[in-house]
Order: sequence, then C-alpha cells, then structure tokens
Amino acid sequence: MKKLNFKELLEVFGKDETAEILRGKFVEEDSHNQYLRKTYLRKRDYILECMSGTWQDIRMGLLELEDGKRLAESDKRLARYSIQYLEAADKLPIFDNGIDESRLEQAREYPIENFIEGKIRRIGNRITAKCPFHEEKTPSFFIYTSDNHYHCYGCGKHGNNAIDFLMARDNVEFIEAVRRLI
Ligand SMILES: [Zn+2]
Repeated sequence: MKKLNFKELLEVFGKDETAEILRGKFVEEDSHNQYLRKTYLRKRDYILECMSGTWQDIRMGLLELEDGKRLAESDKRLARYSIQYLEAADKLPIFDNGIDESRLEQAREYPIENFIEGKIRRIGNRITAKCPFHEEKTPSFFIYTSDNHYHCYGCGKHGNNAIDFLMARDNVEFIEAVRRLI
C-alpha cells in the first residue's frame, strides 16, 4: 500500500484517527531515534577518546555522513510527526501562531546553561557544572555551547539540545518540552 501523506490521512481517516496514527508513528520513531542517537554518541565518544589528528578528523567526517545523517533525518521525521499530530488533534492554538520548523529550531537552541543552578565554569566553548541529573561534589556535567549538546561524564546523561534536556529533567513529552521553550 502506498504511504499516505498528511493530507491524505486526514481525508481517509478523519482528524481523531489521524491524530492517533501520528501519535503511534511518533512513539515508534522516538524509540528508533533513541537507538540511533545512542549508537551515534557511542561511536563519537570512541573516536574522540581513542583517536587523534587526521584519523580523528576522517572518522568524525564519516560518522557525520552516515550515522549523523540518519539521526538528523530521524530528528526531522520526529518533528514533522509531532507538528502534524498537534494539527490533527486541534492542539495547535496553544502555540499562538503555530509551531513550525523555525520555532522548533528556536526551542532546540535555547541555551541549556540558563537552566543550570549554581556555579558554572566556562572554558572555550565548553561549560562545566554540577550535574542536574545526579548528586555529585565535583562537576562532571558538560555543555558544549557550539551546538548546545550536553553530556555528563558521571551518570552518562546525554542530549543534543534544550528540548532533550527538558524532556529528561522534567520528565515531559517532546511537545510539552517545546511549549516550555518557546
Ligand atoms: Zn550526571
């Protein structure tokens, strides 16, 4: 069967059922996305820790071309499903004039450091602070301000943007996290 696009889904199934279908797609994509992210980050950490110089550059380039690209595509699908879900479920009005890719971008890029309470230390484009996800005496939580991703070398918490951060910290769904950020 041909895959139906959003408009066709609405025509065939109506709003309610389409919203349910999209929620299903989102959940499925979300678990796939987490798997891709884990793989991508594991490889990236390995390259950064175990390689240096030209080898590191080459392997990082390849990683971005393969796993990085797959992850970015999955991120886009995830964003699309959540927007379409909101539209089908008539939840769009909660965002004054709708949520689109540029507002999602704005939410992703909200500086994670603004959520950190207590002392932060800035070294180049890295910020270290005490981890908001586990108790610790010495800071092992890193925010990389060049792309707003974070990693805790103590508990392993990891995320690629402010949306990931809020989802993990406040235990909320993607849509709720976005709403808190825009
Ligand atoms: Zn931690």
